[in-house]
Amino acid sequence: MKAQYKRYKGEIDTAIQEVLLEASFIGGKQVGILEKRLAEYVGVKHCISCANGTEAMTLLMMAWDIKEGDAVFVPDFTFFSTGEVVAFRGASPVFIDVDKDTFNIDPLKLEKAIEKVLAEGRLVPRVIIPVDLFGLPADYSEIERIANKYDLLILEDGAQGFGGSFKGKKACSFGHAATTSFFPAKPLGCYGDGGAIFTDDDDLCALLSSYKVHGKGSNKYDNVRIGVNSRLDTIQAAILNVKLTAFIEHELDDVNRIYELYNRGLDGIVATPKIPEGYISSFAQYTIKLESKEQRDGLQAALKERGIPSMIYYIKPMHRQEGFSMLDYNDKDFEVTNKLCDTVLSLPMHPYLTEGDVERVVSVLEGAMR
Ligand SMILES: *Cc1c(COP(=O)(O)O)cnc(C)c1O
Repeated sequence: MKAQYKRYKGEIDTAIQEVLLEASFIGGKQVGILEKRLAEYVGVKHCISCANGTEAMTLLMMAWDIKEGDAVFVPDFTFFSTGEVVAFRGASPVFIDVDKDTFNIDPLKLEKAIEKVLAEGRLVPRVIIPVDLFGLPADYSEIERIANKYDLLILEDGAQGFGGSFKGKKACSFGHAATTSFFPAKPLGCYGDGGAIFTDDDDLCALLSSYKVHGKGSNKYDNVRIGVNSRLDTIQAAILNVKLTAFIEHELDDVNRIYELYNRGLDGIVATPKIPEGYISSFAQYTIKLESKEQRDGLQAALKERGIPSMIYYIKPMHRQEGFSMLDYNDKDFEVTNKLCDTVLSLPMHPYLTEGDVERVVSVLEGAMR
């Protein structure tokens, strides 16, 4: 983020200055401009900006009236948020194991879990929330087939997916609605919190626009439903307008170039990410897989010793989080996620890495694996 700011300092400073001079901190023109540009880029009719990626999903849970007694299907390998927004509404998240290569929700296991919920008859299946983990869109061909078969809604959690695509269709355009996050470390990040919802549905757009501003009717002081206060600040929108241009012009290509460099360097040394045919990833993370927890932790230590940061996304499966201890699970249903949590490692990944940076990481890993 420092390298990015250095390169775009002039434009970003000017954009912020403009908001300060106009004193249009809430709902300034930059917000509407950004929403229009985002909707156009993603290829949907409406973009509704909001306070963050978690609230974006919560607003949809509200608009769809997800409540106690409802089942919402969520991958077991994701950030806490994806399940949190479900439990926050009193509904039940049903966690689903993921595919070992794409890290995304496993459609076979998803369908089995839906059948199981139906057979038990305790919960009503309502929504699937596929996550585009690490920048790679989920398997929407299969997920859409399943959603149609069981009459379920799809909420694409594109917090990490913005910029990716599947069969030429951009991430954040799948399902009945999609959400993204502008948390600084996401593919398109701002300088604080921010989020957005994407949909083609006019009625849903109107409902969300009301919920996010205190359930407003004709205006903010006419309140027709109980809502929340969830807006994107004008300053963040102004910053995002500069960063969106950089993202489109070169950043997405740059991370894909770095992916190729890493994959070439690490081939035969560790299990590298593979992007399946028809997909483009926005590489929110570049995540390798090791053989064991000991090997993974050893590699992370070796990198740290040489001043190279790396992260473990995610160290704990959703079903083992204490916050979800009220739910009943069989740990054996999450064989893949359990193993991934012990063996994944995310290496430095952003558009401003140089070839030399990548070579240095590769050489440390090469040495440590010998
Ligand atoms: C970051 C993230 C979120 C939440 O976004 P915030 O803007 O931090 O609220 C949700 N889902 C996934 C998969 C994420 O990575």
